[in-house]
Amino acid sequence: MRDVVVVGAGPNGLTAAVELARRGMSVEIFEAKETVGGGARTEELTLPGFRHDTCSAVHPMGVGSPAFRAMPLDRYGLEWLHPELPLAHPFPDGSAAVLARSIGETAAYLGPRDAAAYRRLMKPFAGKWDTLSADFLKVPWDGLPRDPVTLARLGLPGLAPVSWLTRVFAEDKGRALLAGLAAHVVAPGSTPVTGAIALVFALAAHEVGWPLARGGSQGIADALTAYLRDLGGVVHTGVEVKRLDELPPARAYVFDTSPTAMARIAGLGRAFGHFRYGAAAFKVDYALEGPVPWTAAEARRAGSVHIGPGSGEIAAALRAASVEGRAPEAPFLVTSQPTLVDPGRAPEGKHVFWAYGHVPNGWDGDLTEAIERQVERFAPGFRDRVLARAVAGPAELARRNANYVGGDFTCGAFSGWQTVFRPRPAWNPYGTAHPAVFLCSSAAWPGPGVHGMSGHNAAKAVWRRLRAATR
Ligand SMILES: Cc1cc2nc3c(=O)[nH]c(=O)nc-3n(C[C@H](O)[C@H](O)[C@H](O)COP(=O)(O)OP(=O)(O)OC[C@H]3O[C@@H](n4cnc5c(N)ncnc54)[C@H](O)[C@@H]3O)c2cc1C
Repeated sequence: MRDVVVVGAGPNGLTAAVELARRGMSVEIFEAKETVGGGARTEELTLPGFRHDTCSAVHPMGVGSPAFRAMPLDRYGLEWLHPELPLAHPFPDGSAAVLARSIGETAAYLGPRDAAAYRRLMKPFAGKWDTLSADFLKVPWDGLPRDPVTLARLGLPGLAPVSWLTRVFAEDKGRALLAGLAAHVVAPGSTPVTGAIALVFALAAHEVGWPLARGGSQGIADALTAYLRDLGGVVHTGVEVKRLDELPPARAYVFDTSPTAMARIAGLGRAFGHFRYGAAAFKVDYALEGPVPWTAAEARRAGSVHIGPGSGEIAAALRAASVEGRAPEAPFLVTSQPTLVDPGRAPEGKHVFWAYGHVPNGWDGDLTEAIERQVERFAPGFRDRVLARAVAGPAELARRNANYVGGDFTCGAFSGWQTVFRPRPAWNPYGTAHPAVFLCSSAAWPGPGVHGMSGHNAAKAVWRRLRAATR
């Protein structure tokens, strides 16, 4: 009898496994694919020698994660590489807004009218990442916050939709910058709590940076796995778990899966029938013969580049995909250019680059042309540099990872009560009706991103349950 079996070796499953093994428990983990990592994987998707992050690439929440920071992952090969600028957001006139490491530099890019507004927005949180991240990434009602005043200062403006928050700016540059940050949770800017998402991503750039992992995001998963093995954990790959009784006997089963998959596997019936999946990503990975020829010089120095020429266009793109059920004509794009800081991921002088836009859940069209049209608007000549591309619409994303149901990489829509009560309103969101079955994936609070905090919080819930059972 093991103490714990974990299903799925994504960042959250691995974090839960590590934290339980660290408490002296025997842990075994089963992963469906041949490699560990889930959304933190790196593969040669296009041509030999070009190493692409199949999903996540940029890690503000990883480098700033209280769970990862408490682990010696650097000893297991994880190295963070910081681009000169975390993010650039170019505009059609050749200028750009920039999310820089300092609040002052970021403010300066917004022009004299909005610089003071940005400073006023961010200054209350400066120097407070450690307490603030610990407070907002734990279950809000599980214990007192460490710094309730700062948490309230984040919560008050943050509970609002980002479209309200950005009214502090006189010009659209600042509005577009924050709207692009909030878009990482794939929800229209009119959704409550998207204000907090934008503030947290901006603050992360100033406090901990937006780094990439040397060699690719696989480095995060590999470091967690090596640490787990050192703690005595056993890792199986290439085993898709279909039923609970296929697994070895254990005191607890922890699922780094979608809630609906967990319900199917563990026989929980329609327990999560209410759970809603959101809009999907449509991602294209490129092998390039040179860097992206951005018009804006700032975009040539940034790890990430957002493409959406105005807050109105960004809002329209997200509304089309998540509310109107159609693909946007001008998608808002999140793009990543890892080889600017990590040239070893491509043959000498060559580059890898990815871009994704948003489409309805399960959409089966092709967004490649619309994506490239958008990139060309800000980087004329981009297409001429493409050596090869790997296209992944919703079906391909779901094939790569069963958690991306219909291509929804947030593993559950950021809408309605699911913005806070993930996967359902409950005192312990990680527990289920089955006393030995727990959920630890990003479908549970605090949601998507490679930070391991759903796994960390779930491990706490498992530990409390098992300790109570042995008393
Ligand atoms: C295109 C794209 C870009 C992204 N960019 C970023 C980014 O830049 N930064 C960031 O922080 N996040 C990003 N994300 C989101 C991030 O990847 C996820 O939020 C994160 O990986 C969630 O971690 P997880 O452990 O909950 O689940 P996952 O990473 O999805 O891992 C779940 C694992 O469980 C396995 N599994 C599922 N079902 C079974 C089963 N039945 N049996 C056995 N194994 C099973 C899966 O194969 C998978 O390995 C991106 C995602 C996508 C798709």
